[in-house]
Amino acid sequence: MTDSEPPRRKILSLKSGVAAPGGPKPLERIARPARPVTPEPPPPPPPAVGDWKCKPCGARFDPSPDLADADSVRCPSCNARLGLAADFRSDPPNLEKLRARHLKR
Ligand SMILES: [Zn+2]
Repeated sequence: MTDSEPPRRKILSLKSGVAAPGGPKPLERIARPARPVTPEPPPPPPPAVGDWKCKPCGARFDPSPDLADADSVRCPSCNARLGLAADFRSDPPNLEKLRARHLKR
């Protein structure tokens, strides 16, 4: 163990208050009201697109109403077959045969 101290470095003192022209200004303290700010309610979420969620990729979609009952519903995002249109339309939906989740509003 040695008693030698590590060489001290001179701390360069920044000249405060002297801002270079065009340079960044010293930070100013913004006076804030002492009152607690009541948080505003979050904005309403954007309108949901589709009542269904593709299980493979998670995209929201709606089965096309143009599909015949025997047609397969495909995910518009990943193009996976998610089930028959008839199973989507049945009430309640035949979820056991579908690879999509029904999102209830
Ligand atoms: Zn998908």
